[in-house]
Amino acid sequence: LGSTVEVEGAEIEEDPDEDDLLGGLKIDTTAEIEIPDRLVDQVIGQEHARDVIIKAAKQRRHVMMIGSPGTGKSMLAKAMSELLPKEELQDVLVYHNPDDGNKPKVRTVPAGKGDQIVEAHREEARKRNQMRSLLMWIIIAVVLGYALIIVGQILVGIIAAGVVYLVFRYLNRGSDAMIPNLLVNNGDTKTAPFRDATGAHAGALLGDVRHDPFQSGGMETPSHDRVEAGAIHKANKGVLFIDEINTLDIRSQQHLMTAIQEGEFSITGQSERSSGAMVQTEPVPTDFVMIAAGNLDAMENMHPALRSRIKGYGYEVYMEDTIEDTPEMRRKYVRFIAQEVAKDGRLPEFSAEAVEEIILEAKRRSGRKGHLTLKMRNLGGMVRVAGDIARGEDAEMTTRDHVLQAKGRSRSIEQQLADDYIERRKDYELQVSDGYVVGRVNGLAVMGEDSGIMLPVMAEVTPTQSGGQVIATGQLKEMAEESVQNVSAIIKKFSDENISEKDIHIQFIQTGQQGVDGDSASITVATAVISALENVGVDQSLAMTGSLSVRGDVLPVGGVTHKIEAAAKAGCDRVIIPAANEQDVMIEDEYEEMIEVIPVSHISEVLDIALEGETEKDSLVSRLKSITGSTLKDGNVS
Ligand code: ADP
Repeated sequence: LGSTVEVEGAEIEEDPDEDDLLGGLKIDTTAEIEIPDRLVDQVIGQEHARDVIIKAAKQRRHVMMIGSPGTGKSMLAKAMSELLPKEELQDVLVYHNPDDGNKPKVRTVPAGKGDQIVEAHREEARKRNQMRSLLMWIIIAVVLGYALIIVGQILVGIIAAGVVYLVFRYLNRGSDAMIPNLLVNNGDTKTAPFRDATGAHAGALLGDVRHDPFQSGGMETPSHDRVEAGAIHKANKGVLFIDEINTLDIRSQQHLMTAIQEGEFSITGQSERSSGAMVQTEPVPTDFVMIAAGNLDAMENMHPALRSRIKGYGYEVYMEDTIEDTPEMRRKYVRFIAQEVAKDGRLPEFSAEAVEEIILEAKRRSGRKGHLTLKMRNLGGMVRVAGDIARGEDAEMTTRDHVLQAKGRSRSIEQQLADDYIERRKDYELQVSDGYVVGRVNGLAVMGEDSGIMLPVMAEVTPTQSGGQVIATGQLKEMAEESVQNVSAIIKKFSDENISEKDIHIQFIQTGQQGVDGDSASITVATAVISALENVGVDQSLAMTGSLSVRGDVLPVGGVTHKIEAAAKAGCDRVIIPAANEQDVMIEDEYEEMIEVIPVSHISEVLDIALEGETEKDSLVSRLKSITGSTLKDGNVS
């Protein structure tokens, strides 16, 4: 089914070059790309989830989708509603119950009939009212005439007419109560309903009965007219989508479970002290397919019984974050841009170069060699920002330049914070970028998902008070401690001096930031400590990132591209990265000239590059090589 869909409407070169970001598509603009009609065919990647949705639609099974935001969960849920049969749709009517006004009756009719029924009732009520008013005016006229002409008493006439009027009004009171309330109307629905109940409060999810301030005396709104359908009722025969399912309160999750189990759910007032709480309808059908979504911890916090219901009667799928970068995929990404342009409706079409730039960004954002990111909502955001910039300029087409500008504007909050932070730090000259300093190394970290930041580490060695400790300070204490654990084995083996007589202080300088990963600072910490121990300066125009094994091997880390860019922005000339990460580097052209990237695979190489002075350094480096090479291998690490 959907998985075989190819990009249509444009010529495709066979066996395209690897550098061809359009995957062999020969287009000038995205206007040449045809967009599939069905939503399910518009989904990029997520083959597995898509197959599940198609299968689940046939079998009417519930689905649980776990994955990162913006990867297409609600899009797939909506796509499923298009695949469900439309023939079965129903309208739901609520009627006044003459036996018990607080127990309105519920009737289900084929879609489209509901409107007709209500209309017929209205017509009847109108006719009846007309007849009654006619009768009333005749009686009033007779009464007035009689009083005036025969008795000659105008006051009596007016009073009598007033009484007649009130009597008729009282009789008319109930006539509106005869008109049913069309609770669910599928008359105009083109596909099975799709209801997104993410973050819905109880009333919106389960239905509600409005409060009536006039509860008696002929002024009240009949109870059946105050009944409102919830998402579970409106989703009948269609799809009910709930993202962040774990945030739904437990009581609602329980009710949801009942609705799934019974296939029907009575509506009652949700706020306890309102008059609506006295009303309870007959059961209203809730025969929906449920798609629950969330991230991994959503599953842990979800009501276990609800989860097992879905599991027992449906499927669980995991949404992918990245997908392999192939020519076919690239062509689909081109179509994605065309889709987003079409969906927005006001953006100028994208030029081929603009498309290439976005696909390049998809590569970068994947953070993985040979992959493209599937966080499509963010990518779509960039498409819209670029298109808006182009539209603002009245441009005919969105060009590469617009996309480049958009990259600046559609920065995530973390990125904006990081940039702002770098700016501010420049003011305080924390950003040393010249010469050599003992015990100070420029580390690199990632904030959030996509922002690099330079994070200097300082180490100092002092005579001990209490028997040789490693003391980490600064706000990133935990992170420092983690790194320290990784490097302390090496430092202990390395040091000539009796380390048990020294305290080593390690400080991560002035960060107000959270969410930086600790492990990737290991080589930074090791270098700072060795520099401090041996009193040898470290090159300040150099930044570094890398994890460390106890044997001194430099291990790969995450986010290298963002880290390199951060180093370049901060003014560094060179940056050390793990050799294993070399393939993940996808920095933008502008940075390529600004900074030299040096891949390394052993801590001795790091010191060789970072430390000052030939002779001291050489002896240190060779010492490190021998120590980490042999001693550690013998398993002497404490
Ligand atoms: P989620 O529910 O996973 O947070 P959405 O389905 O709401 O994400 O995605 C938001 C928008 O991003 C969609 O409307 C669509 O335009 C785009 N999008 C997300 N994932 C995909 C995908 N896999 N293929 C195509 N477009 C996507």
